[in-house]
Amino acid sequence: MQDIRHIKERLSGAAASGDTPGADALADGGTALSILGIRKRFGETEVVRAIDLEIPSGQFVAVVGRSGSGKSTLLRLIAGLETPDAGTIAFDRIGGGEGEGGYLRMMFQEPRLLPWARVLANVEVGIREADKAHSKALASDVLREVGLESKQFEWPSALSGGQRQRVALARALVSRPRILLLDEPLGALDALTRLSMQSLLARVWAKLGFTAILVTHDVQEAVSLADRVLVIDDGSIVKDVRVGVARPRTRDSAELAKIQSSILEELLTEDN
Ligand code: ADP
Ligand code: MG
Repeated sequence: MQDIRHIKERLSGAAASGDTPGADALADGGTALSILGIRKRFGETEVVRAIDLEIPSGQFVAVVGRSGSGKSTLLRLIAGLETPDAGTIAFDRIGGGEGEGGYLRMMFQEPRLLPWARVLANVEVGIREADKAHSKALASDVLREVGLESKQFEWPSALSGGQRQRVALARALVSRPRILLLDEPLGALDALTRLSMQSLLARVWAKLGFTAILVTHDVQEAVSLADRVLVIDDGSIVKDVRVGVARPRTRDSAELAKIQSSILEELLTEDN
């Protein structure tokens, strides 16, 4: 019950004590993770090669790299969907009584909605066991947060691609994830929808404080959203760039453009 009040306050931006939640309070919604020497091979090919990675709670990490470099495999290893051949992945606090991975959610390029369930019911799929008694209210609050309150009784087929991805985001957020893994979730959207989804992601991340790991092909998207950009090549992290630019970030920021071009340079030299 207290938990529900907690998320409602976060979603509405109001704090119980009357003061606005500071960065520290919001960071409480995340988890730190520590990856040590993980490796994964498929047949003869080593797809992830001894990756070490420390991610503090609440950090927004973007992962870029050419197709086939192992980005999705890395996310799947973190999500527990693949078992590493070697190494460990430890979370600071993730289970919360629901087992390892309980508070971890993943979003994909396709929204993966249930076509026979209306929008609200699709979001309720993500509800935690402990929140079941209030699932409709909570799902409807989260739908408001992603701007889809008026669509809750629609079928997924009646929505645009961007709206379906927002439902998928709401389904992930309704479980109050401490870590959200995003595997090119905006990859199939048109340019304008993509921009508005980027703003939405930036806003909910800042509000809820989960740890975010976003795989993207779009370097501009990576630098505009992330605290840190990892460049992956052939299963290894070849560049780890801090994006220390204050938020909200503007698209014409010279500082962001500079970081973006240094990352592009790295990606292009890999072509040699
Ligand atoms: P990325 O997401 O960077 O495009 P992936 O992690 O999906 O790359 O894939 C990295 C490599 O591993 C690719 O060569 C891919 O074909 C291979 N691979 C990924 N998953 C499997 C699997 N389940 N079985 C065999 N090979 C796989
Ligand atoms: Mg991939």
